[in-house]
Amino acid sequence: MKARYSGREEVGQEPTYGRSLSNIFRFSNLSNNMLICLYYYSHNYRLEIKMSLLSTKMEELLNKQLNQELRNAYLYLSMASYLDNLGLRGFAHYFKVQAKEELGHAMKIYGFINDLGGRVVLQDIPKPKESWGSVLEIAEDFYKAEVENTWRFYELMDRAREEGNKSVESFLKWFIDEQVEEVSSASDLLAKVRMVGEQKHALLMLDSKLAERK
Ligand code: MG
Repeated sequence: MKARYSGREEVGQEPTYGRSLSNIFRFSNLSNNMLICLYYYSHNYRLEIKMSLLSTKMEELLNKQLNQELRNAYLYLSMASYLDNLGLRGFAHYFKVQAKEELGHAMKIYGFINDLGGRVVLQDIPKPKESWGSVLEIAEDFYKAEVENTWRFYELMDRAREEGNKSVESFLKWFIDEQVEEVSSASDLLAKVRMVGEQKHALLMLDSKLAERK
């Protein structure tokens, strides 16, 4: 694994007499890309330590997952819009709350990348699906999206373990637990929508119930 240097070139004021020894010494044989840069300047020498606890690959994968959370938020908001248009305000509310949760997940990853000395790079979010054949199809898409997302976290965890990155592993643990709840909620909703079937009255009752989601 190749270490990265993201140290700064300028440190405080210009040195009094040159920077002949301002070479940066890199020690890339440390685990997890820990980088130590030594700057000599002025009549003092100062030790600058710049650490990045993320490998280039892990940073890329976390950025990808951040993008995926935003994609899911966008998908759920699109579902909400479709349901609002049908007059199913309770269902729409449920998916708006879900979309906000996904934004929260994205921001959690954003903060973590920064905390570990990485850089958040935002990618494109494609246009989400905009119409569905039935409420059942929406519930199925929701369930599928959460199951797929869970597998993404499993793969990220595998990678973190391969790299021996305990910080990423610990961080991902929260998401893996969270995904159990997400899949369970999506599964519950899907089961209820299946039970309702073509019964309009039951659908409206479920709609009122979903409006209560906090
Ligand atoms: Mg999420």
